Amino acid sequence: SAPHPSSSYEDYGYDIIPDRTTEKTKKQFIRESQFTFNHKCQNMLHFAMETSEYPSLISALVSSSRSKVFKGRHFSCEDCDGTVSGGFDAASSQIVLCQNNIHQQSHMNRVVTHELIHAFDHCRAHVDWFDNFRHLACSEIRAANLSGDCAFTNELSRFNFGLKQHHQECVRDRALRSILAVRKISREEARKIVDEVFESCFNDHAPFGRIPHSKKDAAFAYREYTNRDRYYTNL
Ligand SMILES: [Zn+2]
Repeated sequence: SAPHPSSSYEDYGYDIIPDRTTEKTKKQFIRESQFTFNHKCQNMLHFAMETSEYPSLISALVSSSRSKVFKGRHFSCEDCDGTVSGGFDAASSQIVLCQNNIHQQSHMNRVVTHELIHAFDHCRAHVDWFDNFRHLACSEIRAANLSGDCAFTNELSRFNFGLKQHHQECVRDRALRSILAVRKISREEARKIVDEVFESCFNDHAPFGRIPHSKKDAAFAYREYTNRDRYYTNL
């Protein structure tokens, strides 16, 4: 079911972490200090924040919203179960990066951006991550749509006619899998929820004015978003 070969190890992506006990965090801290995975993860995170437009834009936005501080302590490199790449821990507003499952910088960039979209949603609205599956589905759709998760699929289907259709299918599929990875509901149930909210959530591009096509383009898309009021008053 992998959309393209290089993603086979990162497919089951992202989740909203249900419960991280302090016990585990403590144990994790000791383990972290012993392994170079952590150091590598920190380096890649730093590089992602320094070089790619998306994360810096979104983190700037998140830091100016109601969850005031959003820096180092909001990211945590940890070992994760299975093939999960990262997650957003709503209780602590912390983004977890799975150091044992992220091995490439491009992957790190996407995970950071994906999770920052969740963080943005968390700060912007009162999201009920656990009981309202529509809220979760909506954020997963937005994260898959805006993070570049489906960008490579786009590349592959560039020669096909249904470019837009491919992108939408990729977003739909990733959102579905993210929900199934973290919530005990049937595939049919999850698909129904995704379908119900898809149209409005797929078209909600905040904090971008539209779907960014690349890291560089994200800066322009962000400017469009911040200038939208001025644009309308000029009309
Ligand atoms: Zn997600």
